[in-house]
Amino acid sequence: MTCILHISVPCPLRQLFDYTSDLPASQWEIGTRVKINFANRLCIGIVMKISEITDQVEITKLKAIEERLDDSKLIPDELIQTLLWVSRYYHHPLGECFQTALPKLLRTGKPAELDTESWWFRTEKTADKKIGSKQQQCLDLLEDYVDGISQSMFKQYLGNVSSSLKSLETAGLISQQQKAKLPIPSNELNLDLTLNQQQQNIVNSVWEKHDHFQPFLLEGITGSGKTEVYIELTERALKANKQVLILIPEIGLTGQFVDRFKKRLNTTIVILNSSVSDKERKQAWLLAKAGLANVIIGTRSAVFTPLINPGLIIIDEEHDSSYKQQDGLRYHARNVALIRAQKYDIPIVMGSATPSLESLYQVKLKRFQLLELTQRAGSAQLPAVRLVDNSQANPEHGFSDILLKAIKKHLDAGNQVILFINRRGYAPVLMCHDCGWQAKCKHCDARMVVHQHRNILFCHHCGFIQRLVEECPECESKSLKSYGAGTEKVEQHLQKLFPETPVIRVDRDTTQRVNAFSDLVADIKQGEARILVGTQMLAKGHDFHDVTLVGVLDTDQGLYSADFRATENLAQMITQVTGRAGRGDKSGEVLIQTEQPEHFFWKNLIKNGYKKTAESLLEERIDMELPPVSNWAVIRAESTDREEATAFLQEFSAQCHQQASEDVLILGPVPAIMEKKGGRFRAQLLLSSAQRKPLHQLLDRHISVISRHKLARKVRWSIDIDPVDL
Ligand code: ADP
Ligand code: ZN
Ligand code: ZN
Repeated sequence: MTCILHISVPCPLRQLFDYTSDLPASQWEIGTRVKINFANRLCIGIVMKISEITDQVEITKLKAIEERLDDSKLIPDELIQTLLWVSRYYHHPLGECFQTALPKLLRTGKPAELDTESWWFRTEKTADKKIGSKQQQCLDLLEDYVDGISQSMFKQYLGNVSSSLKSLETAGLISQQQKAKLPIPSNELNLDLTLNQQQQNIVNSVWEKHDHFQPFLLEGITGSGKTEVYIELTERALKANKQVLILIPEIGLTGQFVDRFKKRLNTTIVILNSSVSDKERKQAWLLAKAGLANVIIGTRSAVFTPLINPGLIIIDEEHDSSYKQQDGLRYHARNVALIRAQKYDIPIVMGSATPSLESLYQVKLKRFQLLELTQRAGSAQLPAVRLVDNSQANPEHGFSDILLKAIKKHLDAGNQVILFINRRGYAPVLMCHDCGWQAKCKHCDARMVVHQHRNILFCHHCGFIQRLVEECPECESKSLKSYGAGTEKVEQHLQKLFPETPVIRVDRDTTQRVNAFSDLVADIKQGEARILVGTQMLAKGHDFHDVTLVGVLDTDQGLYSADFRATENLAQMITQVTGRAGRGDKSGEVLIQTEQPEHFFWKNLIKNGYKKTAESLLEERIDMELPPVSNWAVIRAESTDREEATAFLQEFSAQCHQQASEDVLILGPVPAIMEKKGGRFRAQLLLSSAQRKPLHQLLDRHISVISRHKLARKVRWSIDIDPVDL
């Protein structure tokens, strides 16, 4: 034994574990992966400290590591520092933070080596005899790429040219070399777009701070050209030889966004979203770390990508809820991105048409600098928005006459129409007309949703499926009736009313197959579908030029929800949805059906827009000392035994109360809003404080104690810092 390694292990225990190594300390670096035997199984840990002493057991009893996996550290210091912060802030075991941050192949111990392939280069030699046309094409293409062309780029651009390349190589005109495999760049570059004055000013304001940490909130109405601002900023960073990390929400269609970057920037862009394979993910991570990828575009977990030359971080649609992970390490990517930007000392731009109240509050505190785009780019105009009293809607299918007439009018004019309903399936309620029985999930406190298409009843909370019943299980009556409408019913009704018009439905049920979503979007863009029925999925980010009418059915749950964020989310959803109309040259119209057309929320939103609405919602939060003004943490517990979940939280609460400081309010435990889900009973404890520090100190003191309590092993429990749903 020559040194002791203190290792972070992927397990729920909140400590490092000591192992010995035969190599001297000088040969070890923090951030190296090692294979160890931990509790009788092999696992991969990360070296976090190197020393000669241990306080865990007698040195002679320590186990030696099994294998060193990296010659030098895999994880750069900055990322280690970030993850230490993440582990502290979210009160989550460090080993599990590494699990979340590392690509699967790296965390399971695969070699951290870049995949390579053949790259071809032009030699000095000139052709002395005439060569075939295919070979000439290859040579011509090489003229445009001084850094060479990979085998897969050739294949993509010219088809199968392997034999031509071989002949050229034999003739000494080109040579090959094994180099890192890179994503294939677009070969249709399209570089001409001039920013308008507002866009230009924003780019300048951000770039002025390009070598400092500075958060910017870019508030730009839908279609105001935020993406173009991101592209221009990225271009500036690339010119300064810097890398740019861009986070985008988890929506089916990242393709459109990425394509625009690829067409405008002649550089190596890697993508990290859910459609990327484990192999590609590892490659992208290593390319970014090596500085071979200059632009990294990805969803939430891409926030953990290592960069060697960071210049800028961009978060698109910063308000989007997919940035918050809802299980395991419950981090918020915006939060982590801010920490990374601070460590790197670079600017971070967070853009949205509907900024979160969290970010608006930071603007108010002058920690974020506000930048605004107030007009639609190009010739497009914002649509006119009108409320329609839902009491006039037909209870059978949920449409009012006004909305149906409008649909007909817009279709007759040759345009496209979008209908939003935030509920998939056919109908949310199945009820017996005779005895009042309702179809409920036996595992959850929830109703079963009718999915007529698949002939099933489906619980959206736990996934439980049952064949659609035709007879009441209580009284055997055949008069079962479904109430309320979901996407399926809306689609069916519209298809009946407009039999000649192609209707498509975009929701989680119709987009499960890989590429299903982009196929549907292609149909929409080509105008093959004229009526689009969808959930929120269709609201985010799309640019459909022929959509002139947007109808929103059934919006009112948001006004009555127990969650104080529901109104913020409703205002964001409506504003985003509204932004789908009138994006091209044609002007648009939006009709919103509501049971409360007189409600202050609607008056404010329609008359004054998102910005004013958000301001008044933030005032409310300030008055009521709700987040983001106060700081919250929720401890959740669930168990098949109702008492146990509550008992665990009571134990936790009692412990906290022993040394309670007046600065932290402890509320509960109370049952979750939906107490039973997936066969387990759920309860929660809420901790709230005006200042962040006392809350975190309280958690620091008690988490490791409670995690060793006997009930902690019986229930499933978790800590959620800055929870976004309750
Ligand atoms: P956002 O990201 O704010 O929704 P986009 O960047 O997608 O807005 O821009 C909306 C539309 O306007 C796109 O079709 C885009 O190409 C176009 N656009 C943006 N900026 C300009 C500009 N300066 N000149 C002309 N067209 C623009
Ligand atoms: Zn019945
Ligand atoms: Zn269920």
